[in-house]
Amino acid sequence: MMGEQGFAAQERTAVLERMGREHFDILIIGGGITGAGIALDAADRGLKTALVEMQDFAAGTSSRSTKLVHGGLRYLKQFEVKMVAEVGKERAIVFENGPHVTIPERMLLPFHQGGTFNAFTTSIGLLVYDFLAGVKRSERRRMLDIQATLEREPLLKREGLKGSGSYVEYRTDDARLTIEVMKEAVTRGALAVNYAKADKLLYDSGRISGASVTDRITGKPYEIRASLVINAAGPWVDTLREMDRSKEGKVLRLTKGIHLVFDAERFPLQQAVYFDTPDGRMVFAIPRDGKTYAGTTDTVYEGDTAHPRMTAEDRAYVLQAINGMFPDVKLTVADVESSWAGVRPLIYEDGKSPSEISRKDEIWESRSGLITIAGGKLTGYRKMSELVVDRAVRELGRLRGQSFRACRTRHIPISGGNVGGSAGWDAFVSKQAIAGAALGLSPETARAWAVRYGSNVERLFAIATRSMKNATETEAALPIEVRVPLLYAMEQEMTVTPSDFFIRRTGALFFQIDEVKRWKQAVIALMSEYAGWSAEQERQYTTELDAYLYEAVTPVEVEAEPGAVKAI
Ligand code: FAD
Repeated sequence: MMGEQGFAAQERTAVLERMGREHFDILIIGGGITGAGIALDAADRGLKTALVEMQDFAAGTSSRSTKLVHGGLRYLKQFEVKMVAEVGKERAIVFENGPHVTIPERMLLPFHQGGTFNAFTTSIGLLVYDFLAGVKRSERRRMLDIQATLEREPLLKREGLKGSGSYVEYRTDDARLTIEVMKEAVTRGALAVNYAKADKLLYDSGRISGASVTDRITGKPYEIRASLVINAAGPWVDTLREMDRSKEGKVLRLTKGIHLVFDAERFPLQQAVYFDTPDGRMVFAIPRDGKTYAGTTDTVYEGDTAHPRMTAEDRAYVLQAINGMFPDVKLTVADVESSWAGVRPLIYEDGKSPSEISRKDEIWESRSGLITIAGGKLTGYRKMSELVVDRAVRELGRLRGQSFRACRTRHIPISGGNVGGSAGWDAFVSKQAIAGAALGLSPETARAWAVRYGSNVERLFAIATRSMKNATETEAALPIEVRVPLLYAMEQEMTVTPSDFFIRRTGALFFQIDEVKRWKQAVIALMSEYAGWSAEQERQYTTELDAYLYEAVTPVEVEAEPGAVKAI
């Protein structure tokens, strides 16, 4: 039987069997933010929707970004006016529909004597941005003099400082945004499954009609049939186009970006800063939950797509950028607590450097009918999905004379987003902190869960009540703050491995790495007991998590060769 949401790790086989039995209007390959957005829109419009993801949801690029829902201010420099206007406007929609995963954050743009920007260009740039992105009054630009700038951020380089501009971006958790969109898609009828790889495309009389999919946990194959197949494979879209024999014309270029995480004691940034580097690029430094993270780099990448790693050179670049703009902090490699690396799926443009390539998205359709969505940004996922599903609906109308309702995602809260909109957010959190305390939780824990899970916090409260009454010995080995999110993650967020939990359901491997080291054995024991792992599975998942812990602080000298998907 399907669970409350059909999204428990234990239900993967049932979901895959159903996918193999039934016929779908649309099969989406790829469970990053793009695939999740398409699944939500398609399911809401009444399309029978299936989605397969070969790793964990968001394990591709969608858990490896700068974690900002942003309009791309820097693209104004390249006169990408249309993109800034479109993506900028989407920010407000993403925020309204998911205030629990998007937090407004004032960003400081300092300018120095001899730097890329000055008071005039910053002021004009932000003015144009406010206009294009339709920024609401309270969040519009402010220009600050030297003193006000240093009050906001005393760590900034004082030498040559002329002032700053201040504007608002939204901080997010990219993987949680993806999972919340996916959960909402499932609630609205989509079937979605992780660790299921489309390894062959199926055709009927030359027209694409589905995919052979392998369950990477059990090794079992399935054939999933659909009227339309969408290639939402991010950095892998060209691999699927190769399978479809349609990789021609425009292709992808992958560029890698890394981020470093520091404890706030070592890098006590009190204010997010977006600053230019001596080589003319822009880098973010962002405070978050007792840590500060900074990035990113932008270098052509030809290594293993599934497993980008930080090199010593990447790390040195970001450290140098930070130490240049915040000279008193004097950070060294020993201060790096964690890191992550990701690859951008950009559409190749001849003669352009990585930072100059446009971040725009495009939809391509092959002769067989495979619809590919390439490029884009996390922030623009909803609009991108709308365009893809519009096209799918037109195609289904043409093929089968069917009609579906129009796009409504602009006004659909994502899972956990039923909190009374952005205006109701603070009151919602306060109310839940009290409700949690009444159940015997500490107000801090209840508040932290409300902030992370939004309106789904009630589901965590229900699990907490159950688990406080009769916890097994293995459950009791974990404190309630870890145990309940873990049970929720397995029961309602299709969490299969400890890395899924520590990286993509909680972000702990980036922002609370010591907690991961502290609780990993007990988490593995509970997951193993709960899911009935074999000794081999337990060994494999433990090794995988240990590898991630090691790689978070250890650079590679040589990028991994392109190869198979990393074993889970
Ligand atoms: P992915 O997230 O990679 O999803 C594609 C999925 O397809 C993968 O999970 C993969 O496993 C799966 N897949 C591939 N082949 C198969 C197959 N055969 N069968 C089944 N599944 C398959 N955007 C912003 O808006 N804000 C930012 O701050 C930002 N910062 C960024 C910083 C960096 C360093 C990078 C790299 C990107 C950044 N971006 C940002 C861009 C953003 O992260 C991406 O545009 C977005 O995550 C792409 O999502 P996607 O779903 O298209 O791709």
